[in-house]
Amino acid sequence: MSEKYIKASECEKYFYEHLDDVHIAGAMNAIDEMPAADVAPVRHGYWVKEKRDVLIHWHCSACKECFYLDMPNAEYCPHCGAKMDLKEV
Ligand SMILES: [Zn+2]
Repeated sequence: MSEKYIKASECEKYFYEHLDDVHIAGAMNAIDEMPAADVAPVRHGYWVKEKRDVLIHWHCSACKECFYLDMPNAEYCPHCGAKMDLKEV
């Protein structure tokens, strides 16, 4: 069976929307008593293009590490592991 990691806060929201008061208490106790999963939150970022003199480089919006690449085609930052799926604001 594959593992599925879920957010406790999303469970609580769901319980409040779908269960009656009697069942909410039991469900909330279950969440409190479950051990936390050994997972780290996924960092998200995007490539920021910079031009210094004639050199173009890119830095990761999450860790600010610079890379002298022609195009940031990496799906993840090689320095901090951020998933580069955000849009520049
Ligand atoms: Zn990074």
